Amino acid sequence: MATDTLAAVEVEQVPILVGGRWSASGSSRYGEVYNPSIGQVIARVPFCTTDEVNRAVEAAHETLPKWGNTPVVERVRYLFKFRELLLAHAEELARSVTREHGKTLVEARASVQRGIEVVEFACGMPSLIMGQSIQNIAREVDCETIRHPVGVCAGITPFNFPAMVPLWMYPIAIAGGNTFVLKPSEKVPLTAVVIGKLLMETGLPAGVFNIVHGDKEAVDALLHHPQVKAISFVGSTSVAKYIYETGTRNGKRVQAAGGAKNHLIIMPDADLDQAVSALQSSAFGCAGERCMAGSIAVGVGDVASRLVDHLCEKASRMKIGRTDEGADVDMGPVISREHMNRVASYIDIAKNEGADVALDGRRTEPSGSAAGNAGFLLGPSIIDKVEPDMRVAREEIFGPVLSVIRARNLDEALAIGRKSEYGNGASIFTRDGHAARQFKHHFNAGMIGINIGVPAPMAWFPFTGWNKSFFGDLHIQGTESIAFYTQQKMTMTRWFASATESHHDPVWKQK
Ligand code: NAD
Repeated sequence: MATDTLAAVEVEQVPILVGGRWSASGSSRYGEVYNPSIGQVIARVPFCTTDEVNRAVEAAHETLPKWGNTPVVERVRYLFKFRELLLAHAEELARSVTREHGKTLVEARASVQRGIEVVEFACGMPSLIMGQSIQNIAREVDCETIRHPVGVCAGITPFNFPAMVPLWMYPIAIAGGNTFVLKPSEKVPLTAVVIGKLLMETGLPAGVFNIVHGDKEAVDALLHHPQVKAISFVGSTSVAKYIYETGTRNGKRVQAAGGAKNHLIIMPDADLDQAVSALQSSAFGCAGERCMAGSIAVGVGDVASRLVDHLCEKASRMKIGRTDEGADVDMGPVISREHMNRVASYIDIAKNEGADVALDGRRTEPSGSAAGNAGFLLGPSIIDKVEPDMRVAREEIFGPVLSVIRARNLDEALAIGRKSEYGNGASIFTRDGHAARQFKHHFNAGMIGINIGVPAPMAWFPFTGWNKSFFGDLHIQGTESIAFYTQQKMTMTRWFASATESHHDPVWKQK
């Protein structure tokens, strides 16, 4: 399987999966997939037509009655096998993530592991999907709820986690008895295909899981198809809002996770070494291309200058370079040349708005064989003396740029958070339990870290973004995802005694 799977990755055209069959798309529109470490095209991805997407939805719809009626215990057996295959191919998957996305192998391995944990969570579906009951809720009347699948579900995913984010969705959906159509990011479609092959290797019935590729046309086909009942989306805020508004207008359930601007508050009493290490990996890990990346450090009181010195000293020692060779580097490329230029432009934007550029990542020399190649490499940047209304403080940059704002006290730091349009994650670094508690209860974000740089929940908890970081009611992952991918049916039952039947005392009265 390993070589077959890798061979599939290296073919020029990325295949689609419809009704259990892998094939080349008939589309005439294509995009290019890059290895961002060297800036070279490694595959061509088709932009599926509306007709092709419709065929995938129809295949998913056709198999729905049989799959939805398959006992949940049998459904999860495919996922137990899937987990074994994912574990056996974890290194291959991590290399595929690194190759098409550019994050380091260490980061890619961790992201694959996070995805496998979602499969482990979904394997517990027989317990998770259980309904509730009350006997004798009224005299001789019993009441119970059971959970039904929703129907055909679709997933539309971003470029920054090619393995993990798709895995947030379909293992839970299909364990719940739904069928699924995945549209991975057109920038990183290869890993999704490798994982799809592993899923099909479990013997999963044809049509339960399908993959299409593309851009707005493919997404719009999913948004408008009447047989798609639920849409899970992860990506930028503007597209998340569009997906939510269009999907709900068309009568679908939608959970749409958007962009972010995450604050890291450093109190004067924090363990500075620990805080700086956490900040460094939060801001510059995955080259800043994480929706939970800390992009604003708020130095409270007299800590800010020490913090900036310490951060600059550590960040300037980070080795940047190509990651696809498994080289020992701390940070890889960003996703594309266009994105690299956009991220770099924020350094001048900040300067023009009056901030201090304490560390300019445009000047960082790549190490090893990356020196002189065409990879999309940018070193870490630290912008000091940022004010909350500057663009670098308000806009998602999604690259290795950390802005530092100075606040006099915790209240001022909380007020900065209240102004943010986003609300994904936020962390505090302190030794003071009361400050931590104030922060936990009053900071304007859905995921809180206390002395943790990236407070991203694991599979068993929901990804609870707030404000413009999330559109919908039920978040991705955890028990909220069970509610999202199932609909409840309530049954009230009364049986009338037949004339010959004697009336029994309750069991507890017979003793
Ligand atoms: P993106 O919004 O550009 O693309 C996401 C998906 O939407 C892709 O599959 C893409 O093909 C599709 N898409 C793009 N434009 C579209 C349009 N006009 N109409 C319909 N579909 C469209 O996002 P990206 O650049 O791939 O990913 C980065 C973004 O994702 C960042 O903003 C990041 O914060 C966010 N993100 C959020 C979370 C979270 O949990 N909140 C997690 C990961 C990434």
